[in-house]
Amino acid sequence: MKPDLFQAPDYFNLDELLTDEHKMVRDAAREWVKREVSPIIEEAAQKAEFPKSIIGGLAEIGAFGPYIPEEYGGAGLDQISYGLIMQEIERGDSGVRSTASVQSSLVMYPIFKYGTEEQKKKYLPKLASGEMMGCFGLTEPDYGSNPAGMVTNFKDKGDHYLLNGAKMWISNAPFADIAIVWAKNEEGRIHGLIVERGMEGFSTPETHNKWSLRASATGELIFDNVKVPKENLMPNKSGLGAPLGCLDSARFGIAWGAIGAAMDCYDTALRYSKERVQFDKPIGGKQLQQKKLAEMITEITKAQLMAWRLGVLRNEGKATSAQISMAKRNNVEMAINIAREARQILGGMGITGEYSIMRHMMNLESVITYEGTHDIHLLITGMDITGMPAF
Ligand SMILES: Cc1cc2nc3c(=O)[nH]c(=O)nc-3n(C[C@H](O)[C@H](O)[C@H](O)COP(=O)(O)OP(=O)(O)OC[C@H]3O[C@@H](n4cnc5c(N)ncnc54)[C@H](O)[C@@H]3O)c2cc1C
Repeated sequence: MKPDLFQAPDYFNLDELLTDEHKMVRDAAREWVKREVSPIIEEAAQKAEFPKSIIGGLAEIGAFGPYIPEEYGGAGLDQISYGLIMQEIERGDSGVRSTASVQSSLVMYPIFKYGTEEQKKKYLPKLASGEMMGCFGLTEPDYGSNPAGMVTNFKDKGDHYLLNGAKMWISNAPFADIAIVWAKNEEGRIHGLIVERGMEGFSTPETHNKWSLRASATGELIFDNVKVPKENLMPNKSGLGAPLGCLDSARFGIAWGAIGAAMDCYDTALRYSKERVQFDKPIGGKQLQQKKLAEMITEITKAQLMAWRLGVLRNEGKATSAQISMAKRNNVEMAINIAREARQILGGMGITGEYSIMRHMMNLESVITYEGTHDIHLLITGMDITGMPAF
């Protein structure tokens, strides 16, 4: 792979909207990605392996629980810092960002929000340091966009719960030490349980043959009469709103992360267009290529503004789920379109692993599908503005 010469575009001087802390956090993440992720990521993706060697570095840049208070091992940062860290990591690779998103928003967040004090003390510091890794099991073979229909269930057996069912498409599952599992009780109400690796009847087979997010490990969670201690139920929220609250946080991170992937594709294509000569002139001097590049920077700038404003609203506790859906949907579509256009600017070179673009493009096919598909987020906006659910 070519050396990482990334230069971040900031067409509307967005840096002026950031605090010194935001810039410090972002720059540290940016440097770390250049140093630790860029040199190894292509090979990891080609081999379809999650590079476990970077777990310690992710913890050091605050990627595990950026906004979790320091007393629980988190970085105690605000939502914009969280977004900026996700942007920088996804600039390197969406699969690496997925690992960080799951750990922060889908594992640490529910324990912090819905867990007991004992659960917080037991798990959060180890999750923040990367000593322990987690995954989040909501999707099932027959219930993807409609998780309310889930069939995974647990029964009260007096001194423990008995858990049965299966989850699929679970990021981090093959190596996670714990799983946040959403399951129905005997009354059909959804609760979150913390299931630990090693519990009898619990297995996590890996999903192979992916053309997307190849540097992220994906798997199933299978529960065959798993005895879960009663103290592993998170008591402070139940119902579908509990997992959806986690998804709000993760989708917010994706809205920022997708900008990182788009920036990397744009920056690569811009540099290439100035160097590649055809018909005696750099292709960047041709109108057709300029149209592509000009539209890319316009769309990136719009997405940056949307993400920044959403971060301000999140900091004030005012961002709605529908606003988060709109930003996730818009920014991921923006990124995937830019990846496709950028790949064309590189001609044949665009399909090789010498450049990051094709890897971003394939990764984004997962990003546009998980955490609510592109269609589902459109339906959420539709419901929000009309008051009529069309699911
Ligand atoms: C790489 C990867 C990692 C993932 N990681 C996780 C994870 O860590 N944890 C987890 O729980 N899940 C995870 N997922 C699952 C992901 O969230 C689901 O794939 C997603 O929610 C869509 O579900 P589905 O694949 O079953 O598609 P389906 O729900 O079957 O949808 C198929 C198509 O139908 C459309 N559709 C569905 N309902 C409607 C409707 N009402 N109206 C119109 N169109 C509709 C969808 O938009 C889509 O285009 C991951 C997925 C991938 C690919």
